[in-house]
Amino acid sequence: MEPLLCPDCKIEMQSQRYYGVAVDVCPACAGVWFDEGELRSLLQIDPLILLSLEDRAVPDVYYSPEEALGRRCPRCAIPLHAYRYLYDSPVELDGCNQCHGIWVENGELRKLHEALQAQEQAETQPEAQHRLAVAQYAIESQEQVERANMLTSLFRLLRKRVPPFGIG
Ligand SMILES: [Zn+2]
Ligand SMILES: [Zn+2]
Repeated sequence: MEPLLCPDCKIEMQSQRYYGVAVDVCPACAGVWFDEGELRSLLQIDPLILLSLEDRAVPDVYYSPEEALGRRCPRCAIPLHAYRYLYDSPVELDGCNQCHGIWVENGELRKLHEALQAQEQAETQPEAQHRLAVAQYAIESQEQVERANMLTSLFRLLRKRVPPFGIG
């Protein structure tokens, strides 16, 4: 396969294999291009992969955001669209609408790693919320038990006042 050109530097990226997954790394800016599914696969194998990638690739050059505006997909050559990872994380990634590849700048690898960790922590919260909901449910059902007991005694009371065969 032809080497991909860095969306920023327009120079050939180097294919690097991690756990059998070939990602393209720019030798100048140390940005990483992930084809569709590659980032997910790597994170499943090694949750610290983004830190390793960031440590291994040291950029020679830095690009200002102004220069990054004209980024195009190294595969499809269509403009990449910048988006915030998980909508509100501090990580800005560039994705391709056509091939669904992701361009991650060197400094963003660490931020992405941190955002993923924050997400994991947030995901453990529903467990706590679930426990709270169970506790809440117990409280509610306790109230229901009391109400049921109250209604039962009320019925007993009424039954005593009304003769069992009152119509006769
Ligand atoms: Zn580059
Ligand atoms: Zn593309």
